Amino acid sequence: MLSIYNSVTKQKEIFKPIQANKVSMYVCGITVYDYCHIGHARLMMAFDVINRYLRHCGYTVNYVRNITDIDDKIIKRAFENKESMQSLTARFIDALTEDMDALGILAPDVEPKATEYIPEMVDLIDTLIQKGFAYVGSTGDVYFDVMQFKPYGKLAHKDLDDLQSGARIAIEEAKKTPLDFVLWKLSKDNEPYWPSPWGNGRPGWHTECVVMSSKQLGQPFDIHGGGNDLKFPHHENEIAQAECAYEKPFVNYWMHVGFVEINKEKMSKSLNNFFTIRDVLRDWKSEIVRYFLLYSHYRSPVDYTIESLEGAQSALDRLYGALRGMDIPLGVIDNESAKNYESRFMAAMDDDFNTPVALSVLFDLARELNRSKAEGLDNAVALAQRLKKLASVLGLLTEDVENYFQQDAHSAMNAGEIEALIALRKAARSEKNWAKADEIRLQLAEKGVTIEDSGDDTTWRYQ
Ligand SMILES: [Zn+2]
Repeated sequence: MLSIYNSVTKQKEIFKPIQANKVSMYVCGITVYDYCHIGHARLMMAFDVINRYLRHCGYTVNYVRNITDIDDKIIKRAFENKESMQSLTARFIDALTEDMDALGILAPDVEPKATEYIPEMVDLIDTLIQKGFAYVGSTGDVYFDVMQFKPYGKLAHKDLDDLQSGARIAIEEAKKTPLDFVLWKLSKDNEPYWPSPWGNGRPGWHTECVVMSSKQLGQPFDIHGGGNDLKFPHHENEIAQAECAYEKPFVNYWMHVGFVEINKEKMSKSLNNFFTIRDVLRDWKSEIVRYFLLYSHYRSPVDYTIESLEGAQSALDRLYGALRGMDIPLGVIDNESAKNYESRFMAAMDDDFNTPVALSVLFDLARELNRSKAEGLDNAVALAQRLKKLASVLGLLTEDVENYFQQDAHSAMNAGEIEALIALRKAARSEKNWAKADEIRLQLAEKGVTIEDSGDDTTWRYQ
């Protein structure tokens, strides 16, 4: 049975979907004004594996991941670039899709954009005003009246009084109390705007996700996720609006993903200590990056170091290595040992998607597979098949084994050149010109390519 750590109760809970065999899941996506960094990749990867695993368990998943395409940072960047907001966001939505595809992240079922839901956001704000939960401040912006929602702070695990006293330093005149947050912001000169009963302006960020999630998934829905930094105030503010406007619970399970850190600091644009996904993928294969990210549990921080990526590479090499030379049939072969690994793998994933333990099960399986291969045992095929199947639930071992070993971003020689030399060497060997054959082997070794002969066949890999 699947259990999920719920940030509201701070406990693992048995997962009970609202509708049998269906999961509705919303994840706060990307604000599109720049390239995504590896911190974004971590968030997307965590929910990619959650999405894949839920489907593997037989659930029909409706996965909604939004795009924030209106925001102060977007307006500022478009102004600096002297380009329209639309052209800036369109460019970075394309880049986002390319990066997600390159990481092997499955596309969400629905990817709503904030600007497509403005009239619905205006309706929500209007409802909140009608019900006495929102007001027009002295500057004309509309605010949510936090004091009217007593459970405020339930996700942050703080009560309203604590939050109020902590927030008192920066009292803004336009608001009744410092915790109140903006729902509708009037536009300044040259800023993009939409009409509303309160004047031309744009919605606040916290309002977007309430509207996009409930329009797509209804209310309540099963799982709402995001980065740890969104817990407060973003998600707290989403709960306040949704539960006040519609007078019913908003979300059943809140899930939050840990940060990627560099030297114990969060990787972020504002600290300028980030690596973009495309930079990282220039040096590392996509599955290595995936392995590196899944090697930590999704709630823990991940420390980004070259050593950990190298570690991920050699681990993945070992898993692919175990499949080398195996002919894997399509139909499932039942075998006690293979079934046992599968149930251990499922138990790890059922325990709040514990990918580090699930990976360790794959290693145990690969070890037994190597032993069985060496001893020529029948069960090697069953084990190889199960290894490939279980790894694919994590989005790993999806490549052809020889292709995997033959792609390397660092190598000076490409596959075509290598294969041409191997053909020359084969010709030399058939003419018993051993000196020439050895010379070619050395030439390849100097370029970082190792070859292995088995009978008439020669396989190769980058070192
Ligand atoms: Zn959100």
